[in-house]
Amino acid sequence: MARSLDTLSASQIRDGIVAGDFTATEVAHAALDAVQQRDGSVQAFLQVSPELALAAAKRVDDARAAGEELPPLAGVPLAVKDNMNLVGTRTTCASKMLGNYESVYTATCVRRMLDAGCLPVGKANMDEFAFGSSTESSAFHRTNNPWDLERVPGGSSGGSAASVASGEVTLALGSDTGGSIRQPAALCGVVGMKPTYGAVSRYGVVAFGSSLDQVGPFGRSVRDVALAMNALVAGGHDPMDSTSQDCPVDFTEHLEDGVAGRKVGVIPALMEAKGLTDEVRSAVQGAAESLRAQGAELVEVDLPNLDAAIAAYYVLGPCEAFSNLARFDGVRYGYQEPNCATLTEQSELSRARGFGAEAKRRQMLGAWLLSSGVYERYYLAAQKARTLITRDYAAAYEKVDVILMPACPRTAFKFGELSDPTQMYLSDLYTISINIAGNGGVSVPLGLGAESGLPTSAQLVGPAFRDRDLLTFARAVERGAAEAAGKDASSGVTALSVAPDFAGKGGEF
Ligand code: GLN
Repeated sequence: MARSLDTLSASQIRDGIVAGDFTATEVAHAALDAVQQRDGSVQAFLQVSPELALAAAKRVDDARAAGEELPPLAGVPLAVKDNMNLVGTRTTCASKMLGNYESVYTATCVRRMLDAGCLPVGKANMDEFAFGSSTESSAFHRTNNPWDLERVPGGSSGGSAASVASGEVTLALGSDTGGSIRQPAALCGVVGMKPTYGAVSRYGVVAFGSSLDQVGPFGRSVRDVALAMNALVAGGHDPMDSTSQDCPVDFTEHLEDGVAGRKVGVIPALMEAKGLTDEVRSAVQGAAESLRAQGAELVEVDLPNLDAAIAAYYVLGPCEAFSNLARFDGVRYGYQEPNCATLTEQSELSRARGFGAEAKRRQMLGAWLLSSGVYERYYLAAQKARTLITRDYAAAYEKVDVILMPACPRTAFKFGELSDPTQMYLSDLYTISINIAGNGGVSVPLGLGAESGLPTSAQLVGPAFRDRDLLTFARAVERGAAEAAGKDASSGVTALSVAPDFAGKGGEF
């Protein structure tokens, strides 16, 4: 019987290679075949890298032939967000500014996934420089949600989420500054984790908001995400990113511990927030009930300063982006306008023509917010709000182990539906405060919404460097969702699998 990558977990792929049931090269060809057959409609990739995937597969097969022990993600197909450097690929940030930029070194997070045996299938589409929640601001093309091609996959890591949801790859890397892993995971029905700030090195990842940016994985099950986390933290502190910390834990170790006797925070005000749809609210309430049924205690908590989170983020983020993106001046990196009379003209025209509308909006906003007189009113106020929000979370975590809330107020929206940027910004309500506080968060799929028929999800957030614990709760939510859908909950396969229109299209071997 033909096997399909759609139904294999990361560890099943490795185990099959170890057992000699199939080779990593066969897996690579199957993944490339799935991309070939599916990506014409999904458009998750900006660049496919068959040579790199096949070379990595050969290394795995050679290691097995030599009798070596295979690394934990041997032969697992991986998509890499296009703001992460990988030698042998361009790193474009989905911007004309970096359209021809060849990676000169490999980002630590990508290196670690490769060291764990992953096969790099390609670079995933994103919002330009990671500004956005829909992947519509990519300078190259849109990415379609595998559950409904007329809808967005979320963003900014929309290509990464869609590549996993469509079964083109088993794992993907994304980055999350204000929700860019958790929100697209929610809209595409996959698991997406933003680890605690500092858990994963950002060396080689193009910076957006340096006090907020964090790298994390997407997968179709909590267990796959835990295995990816193991790979990302292996090796500990990265001397090339001074914010990176040693987190020497095995993220799979307590996955099946259950949640009996644990405390789960719920925030009634957040469940009544404007814009939250009934189907997402009832899905999250269902997840809360399932945690209770598994023995957890639900405890009401309050985050009194949460109202300030979106405003604070949309001050801090643009200020940091303005500083980080100043390097794209048409001299050192990226697009250079030809035939300019002066250096100033070259810089101005390169920036004017290299950046898209949202990237310009953020940088202009950042420049203004940091100007004298304005800085005190907004930037300083946002920093104060940040302190208050961080304290709110710390106080809540004295009472509970984790907090359960939506990841996104609604299911996937149509292209162009949120055309006013502030409307798009407001949809980040549930994800942004976690980056502000620097804590971890994970989005877990809950099954299809009663009204939209599209994936719904819940988000679990936890204290700093308790990301392993967070995954124990995520696994319990996943188990509950699988049971509710009448699926085998023990298998570790998520409640939702590959989007039905794509399952079985290529990827067999
Ligand atoms: N949607 C948010 C923004 O537009 C978050 C983006 C991100 O996390 N990179 O800034």
